[in-house]
Amino acid sequence: MATNEELAELLFPDVKDSIEDLEKRYPARNLPEGAQVTRFAPSPTGFLHTGSLFTSMISYTVAKTTRGVYFFRLEDTDTKRTIEGSGDLLIEQLHEFGIDADEGYFKEGDKGAYGPYKQSERRQIYRTVIKELVRIGRAYPDFCTPEDLDKIRKSQEANKVLPGYYGIYARDRNLSVDERIARINAGTPWVIRFKSNGDHDRKTKFTDAIRGEIELQDNDTDVVILKSDGLPTYHFAHVCDDHFMRTTLISRGEEWIPSTPIHLDMFRALNWKAPKYAHIPSIMKLDHGNKRKLSKRKDPEAAVSYFLDEGYPTKALLVYLMSIANSNFEEWAAANKSFDISKFPFKIKKMSLDGALFDIDKLNYFSKEVIAATPIDELCKEVKEYAKKHDEILYKRMVEMPEYLRKILNIEKDRKNPRKDYAKYSDVSPNIRFFFKEEWEKMVANPLPFKEGIDKAIVKQMLELAAKEMVFGTDENTWFSCVKELGGRLGFATSNKDYKENPEKFVGSLSDSAEIIRIAVTGSTQSPNLHEILEILGEEEVRARLNAVAKTL
Ligand code: GLU
Repeated sequence: MATNEELAELLFPDVKDSIEDLEKRYPARNLPEGAQVTRFAPSPTGFLHTGSLFTSMISYTVAKTTRGVYFFRLEDTDTKRTIEGSGDLLIEQLHEFGIDADEGYFKEGDKGAYGPYKQSERRQIYRTVIKELVRIGRAYPDFCTPEDLDKIRKSQEANKVLPGYYGIYARDRNLSVDERIARINAGTPWVIRFKSNGDHDRKTKFTDAIRGEIELQDNDTDVVILKSDGLPTYHFAHVCDDHFMRTTLISRGEEWIPSTPIHLDMFRALNWKAPKYAHIPSIMKLDHGNKRKLSKRKDPEAAVSYFLDEGYPTKALLVYLMSIANSNFEEWAAANKSFDISKFPFKIKKMSLDGALFDIDKLNYFSKEVIAATPIDELCKEVKEYAKKHDEILYKRMVEMPEYLRKILNIEKDRKNPRKDYAKYSDVSPNIRFFFKEEWEKMVANPLPFKEGIDKAIVKQMLELAAKEMVFGTDENTWFSCVKELGGRLGFATSNKDYKENPEKFVGSLSDSAEIIRIAVTGSTQSPNLHEILEILGEEEVRARLNAVAKTL
């Protein structure tokens, strides 16, 4: 009778290393007490998903706040779903968010002593461990064809039992070693399955760093660990890689919770200490009153690129994601207006489970705050970078008149309570249109929103008078006194109190006189500080605009 030892040799004749050798090659990390080793382990199957940004931000933050290590592993074992180059793109996108790995897979080559960090390059490691599992009888070759598996599934359906390769349905689990060897020698294709010792009627318990104790049915399925293409499945690769990369905290999407008993089953079989798990809640969306997961197909905001194309600062998105990660973040942010999230005392334990509802209004709120807190030079640089990719006209203006644009973006900025006009850089162009003559001409070609109750002849006079006599180059108070005085001459009230007491005595209120100037110059009743606008536009331009509008009345 042949032994498992012989079977292992037949399956993996070229594997000479042992698990012991791997343990030596990848020794325990020498890190300070409490330091966590975390990772982000995406599959290169497309764009950076908002949920993945969330997960990677958490992994990164945990490592940074504990003086640990954050690494990047490329999980490219599903060759059918792999999109060439998307792994590198993910790294680039993460880099825009400052989420750079300490070690891992990089386009220019691996960095770190625990590699390779790309799973397709780790075949020999997986085969070494699997050889050992076969040797000790905890893994075996399975010769089922897709048709055989289909038959099993159908019989399970008919018997109304759970699908899967377990118990009496695990067809090749109990073949004799001789039989296995004979089939291999006959050239029958095989995959390798893990031999579970689990019992479906028992429970597996583990402590999730976010959710506390979780109790699930034990795994009793003999999952595939090595596919026919020679690559491992996720389950096995996770166990093997996170063991030899010495990960201490697995932060991954909550969709992996049901598979955790499989992973713990394997850690037990190998006599390895399992890492801690933190299953990150999915980002949800309210859809007609129902909560559902952000969907790659239905929701543009499922892709991080959507926010970048809209011109949300990367920092704003991180700040927003941090606010859904830890509910005490908002209080912290209110007191730390620089929004430097690296200073936030993030706690994985405090992660909210029900807070991961995507809320664009909240993102806009944080984004306005972040943009308002961005120093002007940096803001100019960011807007220019955004415009370069997404707004040709704005970019041209930023290149040709940098000082003018700087002044515009700086309106009401340098103060304790700065203006919050922009939630995203795509808001800049529509907001500042009137500063450019050709745009302003288009705006004032339409009827302007002058107040109905004020005689057009008075509006015209106010414009002509301001065009002639309004002061420039003064402080705001002097300018405003001047506007007040000019309005007074035409019968506008010069104090709010007077107007309130006897409105019938005046052609309009104090603010009405200034508003006429605002409407003519900006084309709108809403604008930032008018005095700043007039000074930026300059005397000549303002007088010309006032006269031009007066002529149309
Ligand atoms: N490659 C897996 C995924 O993209 C990683 C899960 C994990 O972090 O372990 O879902």
